[in-house]
Amino acid sequence: MCIFCKIIDGEIPSYKVYEDQDVLAFLDISQVTKGHTLVIPKKHYENFVDVDTETMQKVMVVAQDLAKSYMNKLDCTGLNILSNVNEVAGQSVFHFHVHIIPRYHATDDVVIEFKESPEQDLPALQNLLKKD
Ligand code: AMP
Ligand code: ZN
Repeated sequence: MCIFCKIIDGEIPSYKVYEDQDVLAFLDISQVTKGHTLVIPKKHYENFVDVDTETMQKVMVVAQDLAKSYMNKLDCTGLNILSNVNEVAGQSVFHFHVHIIPRYHATDDVVIEFKESPEQDLPALQNLLKKD
């Protein structure tokens, strides 16, 4: 059983901030910034692309609701909402989760940087990626 399934089952303790039949939210142990929170479905899905639409909606609604209330309850001035997919993107726990990372300063210990990269053929990419 994965570590987050163990948290859901109460085998591993957590600091819950929201719970309903389908969704759980709890404080991330890393606390990269004050209030760093994870929102997860109670059913095990590996990641963002694996989860079914209905569950995704439930998780995101809770994430948005918490995000709104964090903007009031914490002295943060922004948030990062993110979900890592697979190891290459930094996923370390393979149970779908959405990070809520309150932001206080641009220099917080959160590094999400869009560096300069080689130019892309945008029309070709559009052709490849657009949905019919
Ligand atoms: P990710 O790297 O996107 O898969 O994120 C996994 C997150 O889970 C990390 O930010 C960890 O700090 C967090 N984490 C791992 N174990 C626990 C735990 N027992 N309780 C709370 N958060 C955890
Ligand atoms: Zn799990």
